[in-house]
Amino acid sequence: MRVEFFGTAGFHPNAERHTAGIFLPDAAPGEAFLLDAGTGTWRLTARDLPPRLHIFLTHAHLDHVAGLTYLLDVTHGRDLEIIIYGDAKTLQAARSALFGSPLFPLQWSYATCEIAPDTPLQVAGIQITTFPLTHPDGCLALRFDWPQKSLAYVTDTIGDDSYFEFIGGVDLLIHERNFPDRMKDLAKASGHCTSADLVRAAQSSGAKQVVATHFNPLTPTDPLLEDDVYAQIPGVISARDEQCLDF
Ligand SMILES: [Zn+2]
Ligand SMILES: [Zn+2]
Repeated sequence: MRVEFFGTAGFHPNAERHTAGIFLPDAAPGEAFLLDAGTGTWRLTARDLPPRLHIFLTHAHLDHVAGLTYLLDVTHGRDLEIIIYGDAKTLQAARSALFGSPLFPLQWSYATCEIAPDTPLQVAGIQITTFPLTHPDGCLALRFDWPQKSLAYVTDTIGDDSYFEFIGGVDLLIHERNFPDRMKDLAKASGHCTSADLVRAAQSSGAKQVVATHFNPLTPTDPLLEDDVYAQIPGVISARDEQCLDF
């Protein structure tokens, strides 16, 4: 299973990083997944796409949805069916606040599927479960279970333990680490994780592979060098834009 990082910054892009987006080009035969639709979504314009693209939104903050307005270019000249998933509040915000006058000249034209609390989804034979994270305006952790492997995506959450059971035993854990430990007060105030929070989540999950993403765009090129994260999570990867990995 291939994963490509379209955007690895939180809040705003910088010269090296766009905001949140994780692309699974072959999630199932004929189906691609995009997890979040930040500014990195424009990268879809240059990708081969199967007939259907499923976009899963964790929440409605702009660094996770702004790229929905770029789908016009993505669909141009292609026969592509797009289905967008999110909780009721997120879909409502994306549909009515982001699209239409005066912010964007076009109306929303995509199929949607609402994620209801405690209700797993089946998409193309893949079980998808969610967990409500602690973050201003809320955020959903997403877990994808194929028959042979699993992936959990935990972005935008305060560093509490509430979701540790949810991510237990996954093959691949993609987890936010917006701030270094020295900024833990800001992390708590803004509903984000520090290095120490990432380490606890990684160790608790028992994940075979951990990838950190959603980095503060004002921090260094490799944020995991701070706080000695490489020594604390064996094999951890600090995601870069356009990085691909197979799991
Ligand atoms: Zn974010
Ligand atoms: Zn957020």
